Amino acid sequence: MAPFEFETRLIHAGQDPDPATGAVVPPIHLATTFAQDAVGQHKGFEYARTGNPTRAVLESTMADLEGGTHAFAFASGMAAEDALIRTLPANGHIVIPTDAYGGTYRLFTRVHTALVVVAMDLSSLRQLPDETDMVWIESPTNPGLSVVDIAKVAEHAHAQDALVVVDNTFATPYLQRPLELGADVVVHSSTKYLGGHSDVVGGVVITDNDAVAEQLAFLQNATGAVPSPFDCYLVLRGLKTLALRMDRHQENAAAVAAFLAKHRDVERVLYPGSGGMVSFTLKDGEAAALRVAGRTTLFTLAESLGAVESLIEHPARMTHASAEGSSLAVDPALLRLSVGVEHIDDLIADLRQALE
Ligand SMILES: *Cc1c(COP(=O)(O)O)cnc(C)c1O
Repeated sequence: MAPFEFETRLIHAGQDPDPATGAVVPPIHLATTFAQDAVGQHKGFEYARTGNPTRAVLESTMADLEGGTHAFAFASGMAAEDALIRTLPANGHIVIPTDAYGGTYRLFTRVHTALVVVAMDLSSLRQLPDETDMVWIESPTNPGLSVVDIAKVAEHAHAQDALVVVDNTFATPYLQRPLELGADVVVHSSTKYLGGHSDVVGGVVITDNDAVAEQLAFLQNATGAVPSPFDCYLVLRGLKTLALRMDRHQENAAAVAAFLAKHRDVERVLYPGSGGMVSFTLKDGEAAALRVAGRTTLFTLAESLGAVESLIEHPARMTHASAEGSSLAVDPALLRLSVGVEHIDDLIADLRQALE
């Protein structure tokens, strides 16, 4: 939908009224199989693992929003990442920065055990090992919330024929479109901001690389980690308000970051200046972090992020526990906030009492 702005595409891309009924919401197609007029003659769908009309709508919407030519929806962010990793040779070389989602690192090192995984400091991504097949970045990173210069990394990676993958879960295509910056593949946990309401687990891969897309299409069908039609509908429903939600997440997160920066018990605030995630460390270390995490009432103590309600978590013991002892281990004095869309005064009052 090239002539339209992003906010318009969120609502209309890939979602023309249903030609059969005029329904303005894409129907949830539950059929597992589709009638054929003659052997091999069908309307684009044969069997629902291979292709489903509701999933096809989500995929074309996501391709449009990220500016890619192909998108593939999966049952979770991890299933999406797993399919992508399977496009590499078994003993391929992959570079991942030391600040990344713990589950990604676990997938690379404990499931795809033949992979050569090089964990690098963000600042050294411009000197990639010669054999690198794929560079995997998150921006902003999780939970350090550092911002990566995707265009620069892509330039260096492409000079040695490595693919650049960006996990765009934190920024969403509303704030950052990695393919426009030179990345080859974008991956999402749609469980987070895309769904936006803590009620669906999903993943998507988007690319403009035809060779990668061909492999992903094969893997999506051959391994079968596909999302249910209802889950696809929930992500599509969430997407419509992505821009509205992100604006409020961002406004609230900036105010929370400013409040924390002035608080005497807070050592450091990590906020990249956009998005809804804020991390901070406490001067009194892990004990203080655990105390604050246990005292908030509006900020629910829970894993995950990106939904309308505010959440607090302790990455070292929760989301990033699988990285303990590795180079991806997280400072135990650090807390991560997913700032929701509630009234800012209530959010700050909750943090103030929890820090008392
Ligand atoms: C949650 C998350 C994932 C994993 O996605 P699931 O939907 O939980 O499988 C991957 N990357 C990032 C940045 C995440 O936040």
